[in-house]
Amino acid sequence: MSIRKIIKMGNPVLREIAKPILKEDILSEITKELILDMRDTLESLDGIGIAAPQIGVSKQLAIIKIPENSERYPESVASKEYIIINPKISYIDKTMQGFWEGCLSVPGLRGYVERPKKIQIDYLDNSASNCIIEVEDFLATVFQHELDHLFGCLYVDKVRDITKLVYEDEMLNFLNIEE
Ligand code: ZN
Repeated sequence: MSIRKIIKMGNPVLREIAKPILKEDILSEITKELILDMRDTLESLDGIGIAAPQIGVSKQLAIIKIPENSERYPESVASKEYIIINPKISYIDKTMQGFWEGCLSVPGLRGYVERPKKIQIDYLDNSASNCIIEVEDFLATVFQHELDHLFGCLYVDKVRDITKLVYEDEMLNFLNIEE
C-alpha cells in the first residue's frame, strides 16, 4: 500500500463534516485500501492517530494507535489499534483535563487543550461490527482530537489561552512549562 500526503490547516477538506461510510461499503476494496494507506501513513510519521480527512478523504474513518516508545509523545502509554468508523461520542466524566496536543496537519506546533476526561464512543469497526468503548485520560484526548477531524474541527480551535500555542522546537527548549 502507500504512504499518502497529509494535508495541512488551510485546506478546506479539514473543515468539512466528513461523510459517514455506508455499512455495506465498509468491507469494500476501497475502504480496505484506505485503511491500509492510513495505517502506513500514520506509522511513517510516528503519529498516534490519523483521520481520513487528513489525507484529503472526507469520510468518517479514523485510526488510533499509540505505539511503544512514541518519540512525539514520550509520556504516552501504548494502546492497541482502533479503527473507528461513523463514531458517536458521549461524555461520561466531564471533568476537564489538559494536554499539549500536536497534529500532523498542523506541523511544528503544539497547543494546550482541555477536554473531558472520560468518554464513550459508539462506532463501527473495519468488520462493520457495532462497538462501544470507554476511554479515559490521555487516550480520551487522543480520541476526541481524532474524531474532531471528522467534524471539521482542529485542536487549535480549542486552545483557550493562545499564549499556549507554541512551536514544538521552542517548547523542547523550555520543557519546564507544565501547563
Ligand atoms: Zn490532528
